[in-house]
Amino acid sequence: MGDSIVTSKAMTILVTNDDGPGTEGLKQLCEALREIGELVVVVPDRQRSGSSHSITTAEPLRLTETKAVDGLTAYLTNGTPADCVALGVGELAKGAVDLVISGINHGWNLGIDTSYSGTVMAAAEASVLSLPALAVSVGGSEPGRFTTASHFARSIAESVLREGMPGGTFLNVNVPNLPPEEIKGVAVTSLSRWTSCDNFDRRRDPRGGTCFWRGGNNPVRFTPEGKVEHNAPPGTDAHAVFQGFVSVTPLRLDFTDIESLSSLRPWLEVAGHPAKRG
Ligand code: MN
Repeated sequence: MGDSIVTSKAMTILVTNDDGPGTEGLKQLCEALREIGELVVVVPDRQRSGSSHSITTAEPLRLTETKAVDGLTAYLTNGTPADCVALGVGELAKGAVDLVISGINHGWNLGIDTSYSGTVMAAAEASVLSLPALAVSVGGSEPGRFTTASHFARSIAESVLREGMPGGTFLNVNVPNLPPEEIKGVAVTSLSRWTSCDNFDRRRDPRGGTCFWRGGNNPVRFTPEGKVEHNAPPGTDAHAVFQGFVSVTPLRLDFTDIESLSSLRPWLEVAGHPAKRG
């Protein structure tokens, strides 16, 4: 320990999130990461969960300064998490970034939910800029386990800085809401079909109208003994975290359905063309 390139050379780590400034996840992530590198912190000026990979093109982006933690500046933008990464890398760090870390999100980012997530897609934006990146989320309903998540964020960050990352790949890390000694290990997983955003909670507003809060669904069921039940198969992110593992899923922005290319080509390239139809 202590003799890696991480500590012998000053690394620059860009930190962002989608939950905005002042959150416990951001504070604890910064405290853990400032021990291994110089931090450039750029976060949205408001809650931006669910903003996915969206960017701001219809209005100018601005940067204002606040404090991330003692002695560390955080830049706030009116933009999205993806804007934060592009602005931070291109305008604040002038490209001299070694790693981008997004989080620590308060709540799982598993399965299908990764495509809605501003936390995860901030890491995707880093991959567009050819930078290694990880998104870190902590699950469970009880707050206050960011210590475990920041501990793993730091150790996985050090590993990525040491080993490098295939071009275009970014990592989605989910840490169970457990004390460190109860974590069973780190599992490299594939995405499940998990989503917590597939229903609406219908409410009355104070003026008598109807409104809809999205994402109140909890895909987990509990047995009478309090055990977690879910549909996620072994090898997937959701299965791993409910077994007590930290889940690490390598992701890419290329959504091409490689398996369907050859089966779709014969009929779509012919029957889909008006002049080629018989
Ligand atoms: Mn969030």
